[in-house]
Amino acid sequence: MASVALKSFAGLRQSSPENNHPPITVLSKPPPSTQIHYRRLNVVAGKSCPKITGRNLRVAVIGGGPAGGAAAETLAKGGIETILIERKLDNAKPCGGAIPLCMVGEFDLPLDIIDRRVTKMKMISPSNVAVDIGQTLKPHEYIGMVRREVLDAYLRDRAAGAGATVINGLFTKMDKPSDKYAPYIIHYNEYDGKVGSTGKKVSMEVDAIIGADGANSRVAKSIGAGDYEYAIAFQERIKIPNDKMEYYENLAEMYVGDDVSPDFYGWVFPKCDHVAVGTGTVTHKPDIKKFQLATRLRARDKILGGKIIRVEAHPIPEHPRPRRLLERVALVGDAAGYVTKCSGEGIYFAAKSGRMCAEAIVEGSENGTRMVDESDLRNYLQKWDKTYWPTYKVLDILQKVFYRSNPAREAFVEMCADEYVQKMTFDSYLYKKVAPGNPLEDLKLAVNTIGSLVRANALRKEMAKI
Ligand SMILES: Cc1cc2nc3c(=O)[nH]c(=O)nc-3n(C[C@H](O)[C@H](O)[C@H](O)COP(=O)(O)OP(=O)(O)OC[C@H]3O[C@@H](n4cnc5c(N)ncnc54)[C@H](O)[C@@H]3O)c2cc1C
Repeated sequence: MASVALKSFAGLRQSSPENNHPPITVLSKPPPSTQIHYRRLNVVAGKSCPKITGRNLRVAVIGGGPAGGAAAETLAKGGIETILIERKLDNAKPCGGAIPLCMVGEFDLPLDIIDRRVTKMKMISPSNVAVDIGQTLKPHEYIGMVRREVLDAYLRDRAAGAGATVINGLFTKMDKPSDKYAPYIIHYNEYDGKVGSTGKKVSMEVDAIIGADGANSRVAKSIGAGDYEYAIAFQERIKIPNDKMEYYENLAEMYVGDDVSPDFYGWVFPKCDHVAVGTGTVTHKPDIKKFQLATRLRARDKILGGKIIRVEAHPIPEHPRPRRLLERVALVGDAAGYVTKCSGEGIYFAAKSGRMCAEAIVEGSENGTRMVDESDLRNYLQKWDKTYWPTYKVLDILQKVFYRSNPAREAFVEMCADEYVQKMTFDSYLYKKVAPGNPLEDLKLAVNTIGSLVRANALRKEMAKI
């Protein structure tokens, strides 16, 4: 409880009188336990926020993807009155669905929601040189492949099992509180199956809000969080013949080259009975379909006879938003902008940030018995930045060095053949820690990298002459 100890320095503070805290209600349909009574306190020592009596802190989580599901479960388990609002309960988020091994353990995911355990990865260069990576994996190590409609539903159901109320609704806007501890009013269209397709307009008072509503977050807009640069990612789910599927049983492919993307990579990821083929770009968004066609062409022999069963596209944030927190509203996952460069990975970071933000609220509110304020939520941001900033930075640099031209990509693929590079890459990916290196191997790697880049540069000059 480090934050509790820290808050004691806030000193003695006079609490607000009770009539400054109106009862919390769901405006159009009050649930039974909406009455809130803040205990009248003349002096509060140590904590800056008043105690709540009569019910617990109420938090709305907007969005039921991995960020929202994980946040809602943690809140509910921590004694918070939790409302999770998801606009589409059978949503199939466009996504490659690759998750690191540590997510399976940390989020206690059952193995039957993981379609494939990938232990082999082919990295394929612009000139179609394929390097097998994964040889350094230990027998129990793998990359999980999930379908998002399965993972997201599982996490949401688990949150509901822990006590969260899951509402099928579209969050539309929020009204800001009239004073420091007054409630936010959130507005949403509830799809209860009884009112037509536009749903029933509902308003609800809540003490805090977690915006887990993805890349186009309305919560982010509501707090003026600012924009981020984004990639557009395109994916086709392709059902391929069984004999072709055997090849992808535990294998995934990554293609690099100007043809598949000027600044990202193309992928073929295996799912239960199909493969997901996709690509993305920040710099040349209007050409995304051309890049997708090129990715399919590169993999054509292996997906021959395949039938496209789903076409999907979605933005991927490139960096965190300028603002991720305002008063009692915090952003997590894609809404905050937590996708890594180079790999385009965001599922683990979404779930992890949702959980961390919820933990900060549970801790700050002493299991839902106190109000929270911005300083409680800020603990989440500080912990997040301290833990993951190096990971984001390293991947940002890697992307800048290796994804900038075809010769640099050839050098990158060449480097991937090195067992030490493979081990470092996989350890960092699977366990989400920037793996500590071996100084001698690091030196060798630096020399090899420079060698590869010099060769790449020479090659580029030669090609330019041609
Ligand atoms: C094509 C593609 C491939 C990708 N591949 C991978 C990969 O292989 N591995 C990986 O780790 N990451 C991948 N990513 C990134 C990953 O999909 C995201 O980082 C991740 O989904 C973020 O989770 P989230 O919970 O923050 O947001 P989301 O998953 O976007 O969830 C947001 C949820 O909020 C709901 N919602 C939105 N607005 C509202 C509203 N107003 N009211 C109520 N509900 C709302 C949505 O329906 C959705 O369910 C990929 C992304 C794309 C686009």
